[in-house]
Amino acid sequence: RPDVSRKPEWLKINLHTDPEFVELKRLMRGRGLHTVCEEARCPNIFECWNRRTATFMILGDVCTRNCGFCAVTSGAPAGLDLDEPERVADACVQMNLRHVVVTSVARDDLPDGGARIFAETIRAIRRKNPSTGVEVLIPDFMGNWDALAEVMEAEPDVLNHNIETVRRLSDRVRSRAKYDRSLEVLRRAKEMKPHISTKSSIMVGLGETMAELYEAMDDLRAVGVDIVTFGQYLRPTSRHLAVAKFYTPAEFAHLREEALRRGFAHCESGPLVRSSYHADEQSAQAVAR
Ligand code: SF4
Ligand code: SF4
Repeated sequence: RPDVSRKPEWLKINLHTDPEFVELKRLMRGRGLHTVCEEARCPNIFECWNRRTATFMILGDVCTRNCGFCAVTSGAPAGLDLDEPERVADACVQMNLRHVVVTSVARDDLPDGGARIFAETIRAIRRKNPSTGVEVLIPDFMGNWDALAEVMEAEPDVLNHNIETVRRLSDRVRSRAKYDRSLEVLRRAKEMKPHISTKSSIMVGLGETMAELYEAMDDLRAVGVDIVTFGQYLRPTSRHLAVAKFYTPAEFAHLREEALRRGFAHCESGPLVRSSYHADEQSAQAVAR
């Protein structure tokens, strides 16, 4: 068995306390906003914020689901924050963002899953930051296709929905989400707005095989997905799913080759890659295709 009790060298990162960075963090607190970059203690935060990319988490920081890999608090979320779209858009101006990713917890308590707030956030960002690329990373809205249509009508540059893992592990890893429903989200998004890039991400290291990863890539291509990312699953706490394997940088490079060979316009693949890592480049390349 491989030794997965210690992190390999390539996963060790430096912490930065640059004054500009500290200032940005203060800005978030002041506006009552949440970024995944901070909440998930993303290892890329310094690089991303310097590149003027960030990921906002809207609709609160309490999720109605409880996935085995995720560190977000699970429970009953608070009511809707109707002013949030404007505050996110204002923060984009202040951070001078070139590309923004907007995501949310799963709000299964809301009839539209929060789709309206997603759409309003896209529109507010467009109004205040016309040159900023907007990507939304959406939940599955429990298969509510009217909710998906509402988001697509707001015309994000990239519609992202993660399948997270291979078919066989889906039920064990994800809470309530279904592999086939996620593929259907991506298929319908493409059908509604063929010019909008679609994207999905997979965490590796949960016990999947290479053959299963190829199958997942084929499934994504079959529903027209343009961009795929692969990153190492890292266990947030000992109460979360264990890491089954640390992929080597060479294995990540191999996954990227396999993805490009299958016709994805762009693939980010690496130990520290997260769904929104280098998101600015990904969308630029998919659009230029
Ligand atoms: Fe934030 Fe995503 Fe970059 Fe991590 S990879 S710092 S979550 S934008
Ligand atoms: Fe985390 Fe998303 Fe699962 Fe909620 S639905 S627990 S935010 S991964």
